[in-house]
Amino acid sequence: MKIAILTSGGDSAGMNAVVRSIVKAGILKGCEMWVVREGYEGLVQGNTEAATSVNDQVKSDDQQPVLQQEGVHPDKQLLHNLRFGDGELLKDGTTEFVGGRTLKGRYIVRVGWDDVRGWFSQGGTLIGTARSMTFKTIEGRTAAAFNLIKEGIDALVVCGGDGSLTGADVFRREWPDLVRSLKDQSRITDKQAEQHAHLKVVGLVGSIDNDMCLTDLTIGAPTALQRICEAIDNINSTAYSHSRAFVIEVMGRDCGWLALMAGVAGGADFIFIPERPPSAQPWEDEMCAEIGRHRKLNKRKTIVIVAEGAHDLDLNPIRAEYIKDVLTERLGLDTRVTTLGHTQRGGRPCALDRILPTLQGVEAVDALIESTTETPSYMIGLHENKVVRVPLMEAVAMTRSVATAVKEKNFDKALELRGAEFKE
Ligand code: ADP
Repeated sequence: MKIAILTSGGDSAGMNAVVRSIVKAGILKGCEMWVVREGYEGLVQGNTEAATSVNDQVKSDDQQPVLQQEGVHPDKQLLHNLRFGDGELLKDGTTEFVGGRTLKGRYIVRVGWDDVRGWFSQGGTLIGTARSMTFKTIEGRTAAAFNLIKEGIDALVVCGGDGSLTGADVFRREWPDLVRSLKDQSRITDKQAEQHAHLKVVGLVGSIDNDMCLTDLTIGAPTALQRICEAIDNINSTAYSHSRAFVIEVMGRDCGWLALMAGVAGGADFIFIPERPPSAQPWEDEMCAEIGRHRKLNKRKTIVIVAEGAHDLDLNPIRAEYIKDVLTERLGLDTRVTTLGHTQRGGRPCALDRILPTLQGVEAVDALIESTTETPSYMIGLHENKVVRVPLMEAVAMTRSVATAVKEKNFDKALELRGAEFKE
């Protein structure tokens, strides 16, 4: 079997560990392994004719010695050629690679064991990620199918959020129609159409927000939480010294997991999350009463954590700057705002974001090997400390219904759905 892996949507720590694990597990099970650069956009772009002379490109661009080995696949050789320094490879992760060199015209690249060595400890995604509008069109997905068939690839692993996993499911369901249309246009032969009648798909959830249903943890969420905790620790000491209040904005547009867990781990006085707005209106009274009580108990510092998607019972956004004004005016607190922003995303994955992708990667390859036309596309999840397979679209649909419940102000339902995983 030929398996291709791509990372898509927002990057998260642990995506490289996913690629490494799947490449190695696939090779051990006798599969041929490929990576797709730049998410679905790379699938749509595919490999152009210029791709055959990539070694020439590297030679002319750069004076580094070019490794030339008999019998080494050109793509694999290219990756070797690009690796130098302290094992840094495909550094940028967007369009440029080490030293500003680009794998021009080549998005679907065959990889071997050594190409992913050490990737478990690298932040972000070394094969790049992107948001592709073209893949959302039928023309884009037809091009993507053609590019996969051209390379003889028959299985796809997607690591991304709910959007990326939806795209994977759409692609798999549509696959027979795409193959038929490519055959009708004589872009592929009858034999190719027969050999590629079915696309095997599996999804892994790379998301810092821990926002996917039917899994206890998403890849990247533990590292993001760790980053937030470190930031709160830093803020805590200065807040204590000056007896200040800090309002810390963390990521989480639809999901309050990061804010909630950071609040628990960092000793917050008040937390705002989208799924459970403050229970009283105006919420300012509730917050000030609580924080005022803490101050009366001689607490020298105040920490408020607000998820970026927080809002009140009427869905009006609750912004960090406004919370600061309330604390300053009503309680007389010297208040500052810290928006953690992209520092939450980046950096080295924590241990769990290396272990989880490694275990899930092995399961993903097994799921592909066992996949038939009858089996659904699986998402690899975690349930009560066990790696599990769940139907991909069930998880995506449930995740979407949390957002819908919030929009309908049905907060009890949103909370129930978040916690309802695996209930019969
Ligand atoms: P995330 O995976 O982090 O939720 P997005 O929602 O932006 O991020 O989705 C990432 C990419 O997945 C999109 O840019 C698009 O290429 C693809 N995608 C998302 N939804 C669909 C869809 N309904 N059909 C086809 N492709 C989709």
